[in-house]
Amino acid sequence: MIIDCHGHYTTAPRELELFRDRQLAGLADRSRRPPSATLGISDDRIRESLETAQLKFQRERGTDVTIFSPRASGMAHHVGDAATGALWARVCNDLIHRVSTLYPGNFVGVCQLPQVPGVPPNNCIAELERCVKELGFIGCNLSPDPSGGYWTDPPLTDRSWYPLYERMVDLDVPAMVHVSSSCNPCFHATGAHYINGDTTAFMQFLSSDLFKRFPTLKFIIPHGGGAVPYHWGRYRGLAQDMKRPPLAEHLLNNVFFDTCVYHLPGIELLARVIPIDNILFASEMVGAVKGIDPETGHYFDDTKRYIDQASSLSAEDRSKIFERNARKVYGRLNAVLAQRGLARVSS
Ligand SMILES: [Zn+2]
Repeated sequence: MIIDCHGHYTTAPRELELFRDRQLAGLADRSRRPPSATLGISDDRIRESLETAQLKFQRERGTDVTIFSPRASGMAHHVGDAATGALWARVCNDLIHRVSTLYPGNFVGVCQLPQVPGVPPNNCIAELERCVKELGFIGCNLSPDPSGGYWTDPPLTDRSWYPLYERMVDLDVPAMVHVSSSCNPCFHATGAHYINGDTTAFMQFLSSDLFKRFPTLKFIIPHGGGAVPYHWGRYRGLAQDMKRPPLAEHLLNNVFFDTCVYHLPGIELLARVIPIDNILFASEMVGAVKGIDPETGHYFDDTKRYIDQASSLSAEDRSKIFERNARKVYGRLNAVLAQRGLARVSS
């Protein structure tokens, strides 16, 4: 089985965006608020939105299950207030639940959290619990910068995060560290802000003792870990200078990297530098980079090809990257897949 741990509902029907537009217009003028949280999207519209995109690519590329969450740039934690953020997260997460109910063999849900700049993240616990316990979700996306590019909130190691981390541990769900859109013109969203977020989160973890306090807390750093694998020597050296343990002991029971690196040399470096046990297959299709690479004739985000091609990887390595590591990091995934009758293919 090939599990893609990083997909967003980038192709959601436009009614979702219209709801958001009205919700935000309602902040200035209450009469413009959406009358209800019902989107008016039929099951057929959801099917249409997926059949020509995510499902088509799953079939063409030979992947099986996508761990699926709301569109990351749409989270926009920096817009609105706590009440609109809470409703927005709920509406987006409910739509993901409908997707995974319509296609239980293809999608497993991960939730958006109602983070708000300046608000302690324990306001996210109720939605996390609802999504995990009632909707069968297996993780969450957690932004290290809900301000959208201005980094006005405390680091991920701040004590204000602890109540949320305690619930994540209790529920056995990991978080993917994932920023949303950038409202800072210095930072292009997917080209700079995303990679900044990934790299910054890693350095925050490195310079703390967070995982001594939470030894089973797990994070996936997407986009290949940002700049981290390329600069692994720098981080090893910084850990040494800061009198921290070696990185394998200090972070690698808790921090994992995905394969959303859009060329073969990048994947080869990732697999050479980062232990195979810490790498999870992902593509982030559809949307982060949409085009076809003229050098290969294939989509940049067809990351399975790079794993297939990387000559240093053994069959055992591939089995871990494609399936087994995801089953390990997402503690609830095995039960969800078994409940849906999806057998383990490799062992
Ligand atoms: Zn993403």
